[in-house]
Amino acid sequence: MDVIKIKDKDFAVSIPESKILCEVERLAAQISRDLEGKNPLFLAVLNGSFMFAADLFRRITIPAEISFVKLASYEGVSSTGVIKEVIGLSENIAGRTIVVIEDIIDTGCTMQKLLESLGTRNPEAIHVCTLLLKPEKLKVPLDVKYIALEIPNDFIVGYGLDYDGYGRNLKDIYTVVE
Ligand code: 5GP
Ligand code: MG
Repeated sequence: MDVIKIKDKDFAVSIPESKILCEVERLAAQISRDLEGKNPLFLAVLNGSFMFAADLFRRITIPAEISFVKLASYEGVSSTGVIKEVIGLSENIAGRTIVVIEDIIDTGCTMQKLLESLGTRNPEAIHVCTLLLKPEKLKVPLDVKYIALEIPNDFIVGYGLDYDGYGRNLKDIYTVVE
């Protein structure tokens, strides 16, 4: 097994590119069927989802738009601590069918905050689409309609996901090896 080093950690391939693209193809076909006539607006969450978003969106066969948002974290004055604010959303999403594209859902807290924020802007519907889900880590109730792959709890990099900024350019998904 090929082991690569990123900074202080070793990683080995856990999901090859061919498997990823096969699942992306499946999701794109399903979304294109489900949202026919809805003129959906895809919202890709940067940075991690950029590669998944590109591969998914090019396989969507119905009229659709795409835009990109970022979540800015800052220490809030409230007791809850870190607050995440959605930045970069210039589109009016009122009445629109939204497909949020995420790289990975771990505890689900990030997605929950994002859905709360988008929900205040009166969209018709919001569907969540994630490349990866760690089901054992999920700690908030989330309806994740489109999931490419479910994975165990280990830390992963590649295909857009990083370890301290590096590894996003890897075409396969790698898992840390202890
Ligand atoms: P959550 O709020 O669901 O716990 O965390 C989601 C975010 O944590 C993701 O958008 C991603 O930035 C980061 N994350 C969670 N697990 C992993 C992982 O295994 N690898 C990488 N690179 N990022 C992860
Ligand atoms: Mg993310």
